[in-house]
Parts: sequence; C-alpha cells; structure tokens
Amino acid sequence: MEIAVCIKQVPDTTDVKIDPETGTLVRDGVPSIINPFDEYAVEAALRIREELGGKVIAITMGPPQAVEALRKCIAMGADEGVLVSDRAFAGSDTWSTSYTLAKALEKIGPFDLIMCGKQAIDGDTAQVGPGIAEHMKISQVTYVQKILGCGEKTIQVERDVEGGYEVIEAHLPAVLTIDKSANEPRIPSMMGTMKALRREFVTLTASELDLEEGLFGMDGSPTRVKKTFTPDPRKGGRMLSGEMDEMLRELVGILREEKII
Ligand SMILES: Cc1cc2nc3c(=O)[nH]c(=O)nc-3n(C[C@H](O)[C@H](O)[C@H](O)COP(=O)(O)OP(=O)(O)OC[C@H]3O[C@@H](n4cnc5c(N)ncnc54)[C@H](O)[C@@H]3O)c2cc1C
Repeated sequence: MEIAVCIKQVPDTTDVKIDPETGTLVRDGVPSIINPFDEYAVEAALRIREELGGKVIAITMGPPQAVEALRKCIAMGADEGVLVSDRAFAGSDTWSTSYTLAKALEKIGPFDLIMCGKQAIDGDTAQVGPGIAEHMKISQVTYVQKILGCGEKTIQVERDVEGGYEVIEAHLPAVLTIDKSANEPRIPSMMGTMKALRREFVTLTASELDLEEGLFGMDGSPTRVKKTFTPDPRKGGRMLSGEMDEMLRELVGILREEKII
C-alpha cells in the first residue's frame, strides 16, 4: 500500500496574533508546528502500512522551514518526506495549493491512498483535501472518524455527519481527510527523533512539476480576500418570563425592534 500524507506547517495557535493594521496573521517570531489534524492522518497511514506493508510518504507545500514538520512525520515513522517549495507558489489560495499538491503527488506517486487532516488550524477551510481529489479525479471521503478496513482495491470508513455517522466504502486510489476521533497519534521514539534530525528531504520546485501556466501561485488563485476582521463579541442573552402569550408578544416586539421581522 503506497500512502501519501499531506501535512501543513502552521503557526502554534496558542501564540497567534493579528496585525491590527492589516488584519493578517503575524507569523514573525511565532513558533510553527505540524497541523494537529495532520498527525491523525500520519497515524492512520502508519497503522495501514503496519497491517498491509508498503510505504508512507509525507508531503508538504511551503517555505523551506516547513521541513521541520516533515521531520516530525519521519520521527513518527514515515518512510520519506517531500517538500514542494518555490517562490512561484507564493500567494496560492486553496485552489492552486491543491492543484500544485495534486501535480506533486502525480509526480512522486502513484499512491493507493492520500491522507489529509480534516482541516488546517490556521486557514481552516478544509478545502485542500477535496481539492486534491478533484484535481486528480479520484474518490474522496471527508471527516473520517474511523478506518474500518482496507483492502487492495477498496477502503471502508466511518464518516462523521451531524448527529451520527455514515459507513462508506471507497474505491482506491482515494483521498481521505482524517478527524481527530480516528486514533491517538503516537509519540515519536528517541530513535525516530534522532533519525529524523539527520534526514535530508527531496525538494520539488515549479519547473519539476507538470504545471500549467496560470493555474498556480498568485496567478492561479481565483480567491480574493476583501476584508479580514475579528467579529464583535456576542452580547449576552435575554431571558423572558411570564405567561406564554405575554412572552410571545414581548419576543415579537424585540424582533421588530431589532429589525429581524
Ligand atoms: C487569496 C489567498 C492568498 C493566499 N496567499 C498565501 C500566501 O501568500 N502564503 C501562505 O502561506 N498562504 C496563503 N494563503 C493561504 C493558503 O491558501 C492556505 O493556507 C492553503 O491553501 C491551505 O488552506 P487551509 O489552510 O484552509 O487548509 P485546509 O484545506 O483546511 O487543510 C486541510 C488539509 O489539507 C492539507 N494541506 C493544507 N495545506 C497544505 C500544504 N500547504 N501542504 C500540504 N498539505 C496541506 C493538510 O492535510 C490539511 O490538514 C492564501 C489564501 C488565499 C485565499
């Protein structure tokens, strides 16, 4: 079983600060970590490899320092790590990020499974996993909360939905996005950590991928962010009391006053 795990390096959110002028994330001096959801994806991949054999390759698109996130995957037990990095990728939105990752996965693949985290804790869109599947035209199952079984041609999973779960069988190759209820990520061993420290990583640049002009980086990003702001804190609730008719009349009055009806 050949498995790729897409991982993202993110700022440690306990330390996140927003620039009041620009409304963007202040990244300078903020420690970076591997996106926590991606550790569940790595763990899920390692467990499948332990059962069925094969290889787990971690891949990240980001600046050169993103190799530190790859090191964590090697320390956990991944076989290899690949960095996709080029100045030409700056300004990529989720569409061009998933396009570029799809092309990189095609280059280093083929893979039976591509695992992603459910979402990144900074961008939070949960779009990159599904975007990769769409670009590669393969199956996808999002919000996977349990892997029930995996064979050579199909995988069976539980998928989280509001108020319950769905059991889904998908044909391989497939993209899965993994939720944190799927497993408990292992803590890297001392040996694994030492091995990861010495590891060199392959870097793929734009010219090494079969990218179509205008579909990657800023030029390939159709999203425009018009405004970023922190919402005002919610006002406290208001309790109504008395007879039902009385409360309903008061409620309608409040809704009219607030111009809701
Ligand atoms: C207009 C625009 C411009 C942007 N410009 C920049 C910029 O200049 N620099 C910048 O850093 N960001 C930029 N971004 C943010 C960038 O697009 C997102 O960080 C990126 O697409 C991932 O989206 P997300 O964080 O919502 O991830 P999600 O979709 O929530 O992530 C889900 C999963 O996808 C995988 N994944 C996500 N991102 C990566 C990755 N990079 N490598 C490997 N796997 C990944 C992980 O498994 C992750 O758990 C920009 C966004 C927009 C909209």
